[in-house]
Amino acid sequence: MSFNTLGLSDAIVRAVTEAGYTAPTPIQAKAIPAVLGGGDLLAGAQTGTGKTAGFTLPVLHRLSTDKFGASLTSKTSKRPIRALVLAPTRELAAQVEENVRMYAKHTNLNSAVIFGGVGIHPQIKLLANGVDILVATPGRLLDHVAQGTVKLDKIEILILDEADRMLDMGFIHDIRKVLAVLPPKRQNLLFSATFSDEIKALADRLLDNPAMIEVAPRNSTVEVIAQKIHPVDRDKKHPMLAHLIKSNGWKQVLVFTRTKHGANKLVEQLGKDGIGAMAIHGNKSQSARTKALAEFKDGSLTALVATDIAARGIDIDQLPHVVNYDLPNVPEDYVHRIGRTGRAGATGEAVSLVCVDEHQMLKDIEKLIKQTLPRHVIPGFEPDPTAKPQPIQLRSGAPGHPNRGRPGGNRGAGNGAGAAGGKPRVQGAPATGQRNGGNGGNGNRNGGNGGGRGQGRGPRPASAARSGGER
Ligand code: AMP
Repeated sequence: MSFNTLGLSDAIVRAVTEAGYTAPTPIQAKAIPAVLGGGDLLAGAQTGTGKTAGFTLPVLHRLSTDKFGASLTSKTSKRPIRALVLAPTRELAAQVEENVRMYAKHTNLNSAVIFGGVGIHPQIKLLANGVDILVATPGRLLDHVAQGTVKLDKIEILILDEADRMLDMGFIHDIRKVLAVLPPKRQNLLFSATFSDEIKALADRLLDNPAMIEVAPRNSTVEVIAQKIHPVDRDKKHPMLAHLIKSNGWKQVLVFTRTKHGANKLVEQLGKDGIGAMAIHGNKSQSARTKALAEFKDGSLTALVATDIAARGIDIDQLPHVVNYDLPNVPEDYVHRIGRTGRAGATGEAVSLVCVDEHQMLKDIEKLIKQTLPRHVIPGFEPDPTAKPQPIQLRSGAPGHPNRGRPGGNRGAGNGAGAAGGKPRVQGAPATGQRNGGNGGNGNRNGGNGGGRGQGRGPRPASAARSGGER
């Protein structure tokens, strides 16, 4: 199949072709005709499937070929916002907008991205110029709504990207507030990697007789990714990683650590081994993150060390290697992490360095993905069979338990501390409760601009407290 046969305008097909894509991915082949038809859509697709183009291309087609779109004579003339994409993180929002811009280049449509953690004034200027397609994180968007610096009354198409992530991060109330200011008659597209009851409830409320498409079975890991476990002692993980990178000649590896401190320490250690590495996490400025990502993408940096929150939505073409230096506390994060490799049909490899402390986490992951992952002991790194598990240090001074899934319970245990800080975790609380204690890692909620939001909003809802999200 080619993009020509899907009913997209020549200008859009040309941009796709120039981007180097010749055939639509499965999600694109299904989503594009559905969106062009004008109806609502519920799509089950992870990052890496080509979902962004799956909604961007038909949205651009619709907006550029209707009466108003056809009357636009340049990219700069005055226009109302007609399509709104909500995304959970600034990284994802930025990437989506980059895609929109690229695919819109031969049309007269323009786009903008707004997220927290950066100054609001340039965004106000940008919005005042007139934008066809706005990509935003929910918190900052509401800031603009409150200030009257964005007008959403002409929205024709709403896209919720990575809706499951947005709910996990406590954005449901913000999403509701956004919905309340949109015109009721519009096309709604909901993309989610997983379908929890919360997502189903949101879909029920939001979508009218939606087309439903799913490309990867729920919670399954993409087939093309080779996954394996390297059992290792707790204190041998760093030499093992250096060994893997050097002996295999890996040139581009995304490494996940559980904590920001762990990420920094690992970067330092890899540096001593002569392996170029940088960290991205919530304590890094946006410019440091952008720089690290750019160097990693262009191949000048071997290892990018990331925490889960920082890595969400990172879009890197055909990433060959993902390493779970620490297993994630939340089993679903494993699926998201390894979804960074083997993207859009390319093959990839995901290896996990697992010590005795993490056996329960591994069990939970294997249960979720319904697979037993192969174990490979690396000669010279045989784990001590008599080693005893120790509690995982989830944040300094508070030993925690490996997580047992993504319990709804912690949502009820919120503390209203969506902004920096959060409550100290008590031992025995669900491990995902850790996510509450963040430091504004996502910035789009908490970071940056003079304490962000919160004024006049009352206490944050319980689940919103998770948005801080990093240790
Ligand atoms: P996404 O799931 O939207 O994050 O896209 C995953 C990756 O697939 C991105 O790096 C895209 O650039 C790439 N991609 C999107 N569409 C195609 C296509 N039709 N063929 C090959 N790669 C694609």
